[in-house]
Amino acid sequence: MTIQDKRHFYINGAWVDPVAPNDFPVENPANLDVLAMISMGSEADVDNAVAAARAAFDGFSRTSKDDRIALLESIRAVYKRRISEFGDLISAEMGAPRDLAHGSQAGVGLGHLDGVLDALKRMEFSEVSPNGDTLLHEAVGVCGLITPWNWPINQIVLKVLPALAAGCTMVLKPSELTPLDAMLYAEVLEEAGVPKGVFNLVNGEGPVVGAALSRHEGVDMMSFTGSTRGGTAVSRDAAATVKRVSLELGGKSPNLIFADADVDTAVREGITACFQNTGQSCNAPTRMLVERTVYDRAVEVARDAGAAQKVDTPDKAGDHIGPQVSQLQYDRVQTLIQAGIDDGATLLVGGLGKPEGFNIGHYTRPTIFSDVTNDMVIAREEVFGPVLAMIPFADEDDAIKIANDTPYGLSAYVQTGDPDRATRVAARLRAGMVHINGSDINWGSPFGGYKMSGIGREGGAHGIHDFLEVKAVSRP
Ligand code: NAD
Repeated sequence: MTIQDKRHFYINGAWVDPVAPNDFPVENPANLDVLAMISMGSEADVDNAVAAARAAFDGFSRTSKDDRIALLESIRAVYKRRISEFGDLISAEMGAPRDLAHGSQAGVGLGHLDGVLDALKRMEFSEVSPNGDTLLHEAVGVCGLITPWNWPINQIVLKVLPALAAGCTMVLKPSELTPLDAMLYAEVLEEAGVPKGVFNLVNGEGPVVGAALSRHEGVDMMSFTGSTRGGTAVSRDAAATVKRVSLELGGKSPNLIFADADVDTAVREGITACFQNTGQSCNAPTRMLVERTVYDRAVEVARDAGAAQKVDTPDKAGDHIGPQVSQLQYDRVQTLIQAGIDDGATLLVGGLGKPEGFNIGHYTRPTIFSDVTNDMVIAREEVFGPVLAMIPFADEDDAIKIANDTPYGLSAYVQTGDPDRATRVAARLRAGMVHINGSDINWGSPFGGYKMSGIGREGGAHGIHDFLEVKAVSRP
């Protein structure tokens, strides 16, 4: 197999060598083949990329809204033509099974673009306030964008597109585990006519390239998606230069199943949602809270549905799950499954070790714990693997109390046959998104969390506003 040479960075409209060579292999987590060699950047590479973004800012921030609408439409056309290349790369570098990689994983690149484009068309960048002053909404400046590996294109487009819509220039540091789809996105932006210097890309480690961006005097805003640990590091590094910081972090989202729901369907769909993307989604419904009167039935259904969950290689079509992204992630999932066992939860399905026949690659066994209490490690920590915790509750108040008893507040899921209960419960859940009876939010709705799940929102108008300053202009 040929190892691709992807050692270049995209700076000022050109693919350039790193200031100092520092090779890093990109691995396929399904079979440990090396797919490509990239470079890990340094502070000097960040300086070059920020200088290019600064130089481009004056011109790009003064482009008209119509110019930027045309640019996004051009990006849409190029992305659409090349979408299958994204599916192939995402599957290879993060192990997403091919139907998922070519479906949602690559597809969100168009969906979020439509959400941003629609919001941009409706947006007014100058308005007269009821008190007579004029309010101008202007690009915040040069933005540092740091993204994770789990929904790699999703996270990139949710930052790059609103930043472009707002008139910002930027430097992207994608996850070192999934740099290839980010580099392909740079090609799309170039082909679509993004002016040189507006978008720049430097690969590298978080504590080196990510930290250099966060500390940089030439960067006005940091937008970060990843772990809470990474997000707090970015906030600390950005504090000295008083940058705006937007954070999309982890979750431990509750799925409340009331006895008046179609319990069998709710349990089955809840497991599918928890295991999707091999459990590596920030908004996964990982705590299944079930009303005590139907809890035994729910456990029975979960045992069958969990046992039926297929694991297979990402190159195959189908609705199976694949490997974890890395050895580190595999080890983390194993540690947390052990914690569930140690805390005395009942291991209903799965457990430690690899599924039979999958010794090479970072495969884990789909795992369900029942009789979990909300103080157990397995109920409090984000696992980021196919691991579900089932917790009984007494009544509506108890369900809400358990649901909100978490440091996170990203998503919450409610399954009930009573529309009034759905409205009541949704209002009391401390989470950025509430999904009722299997629904999902539409393109353009704000994505983000309460509490330790983050600061700010991505997608649509709220996403663009995160990249804007507001200026009040008065006249005598
Ligand atoms: P991570 O924090 O390890 O890495 C994310 C990115 O941050 C990577 O590009 C990494 O290189 C960089 N980074 C790491 N340390 C850094 C530092 N000190 N300074 C600057 N940058 C740093 O997270 P991950 O393992 O790649 O991603 C998984 C996490 O992301 C999970 O916790 C998940 O919940 C979260 N996530 C959140 C959302 C959301 O929108 N809320 C979406 C996807 C993933």
